[in-house]
Amino acid sequence: MIRRFVTMTESVDVKAGIKNIVERIEIASRKRPEKFKNPVQLVAVGKTKPVEALIDAYDAGQRHFGENYVKELAEKAIDPKILENCKDIKWHFIGHLQTNKINKVIKLPGLYMIQTIDSEKLAEAVNNAWEKNRLESDGKLKVLIQVNTSAEDAKNGVDPDKVPELFEFINDKCKALKLEGLMTIGAFGYDYTKGPNPDFTALMECLNHLPNPESLQVSFGMSNDFEEAIQVGSTIVRVGSSIFGFRPKKL
Ligand SMILES: *Cc1c(COP(=O)(O)O)cnc(C)c1O
Repeated sequence: MIRRFVTMTESVDVKAGIKNIVERIEIASRKRPEKFKNPVQLVAVGKTKPVEALIDAYDAGQRHFGENYVKELAEKAIDPKILENCKDIKWHFIGHLQTNKINKVIKLPGLYMIQTIDSEKLAEAVNNAWEKNRLESDGKLKVLIQVNTSAEDAKNGVDPDKVPELFEFINDKCKALKLEGLMTIGAFGYDYTKGPNPDFTALMECLNHLPNPESLQVSFGMSNDFEEAIQVGSTIVRVGSSIFGFRPKKL
């Protein structure tokens, strides 16, 4: 018999975590090259963590939260404790979205942005669902295009050279969506002693082929590298484990 020992003895002070990350974001923002002027937004990624941890983060002033599994986001967004304590919560969906799960996501209270639009088909389906269910009462749904900057087959996202076409499609054809910019996940565990992260460079390069690049949001940078990300222009950093603590790999 195989026995798995799970030792989750770590105790995490989420409020202190939020304070710490917000401070580091401010310092990194001040050190940016002058051409980057947009404020940097923190999305706290609470995947696998209980709603109590999210409520602690909310109490510390955090409003933007990210989840990347549909089922988990759906459960958390309608959790009575979240609805009661986090009335102004803003959910970012940051995972792969299958078309058959769209309705589940777009009906959720507090849904703020979908960061992972990576095809015309998905854009159109999200657009139609939002138009039908939410547009009238809630206005347009904010979205980002997810770009596959590391050219790995396993990763989702549109190829960098296809970004302008998808960008134009969404702006022209998806009237229920408000396209705010681009997002990448990038290769895991990049070694910064080797210089700037090529995924970040590739995403920033995509901006040069789009109208009004300085007005667009760019979402990249996680616990290990959000400060590096801010230095090269990121405006949305998605930070999980540095706030909520170690996350065991999915068994
Ligand atoms: C989990 C996750 C994050 C946060 O990762 P950490 O390394 O825990 O900060 C950011 N973005 C996406 C898409 C994720 O799935």
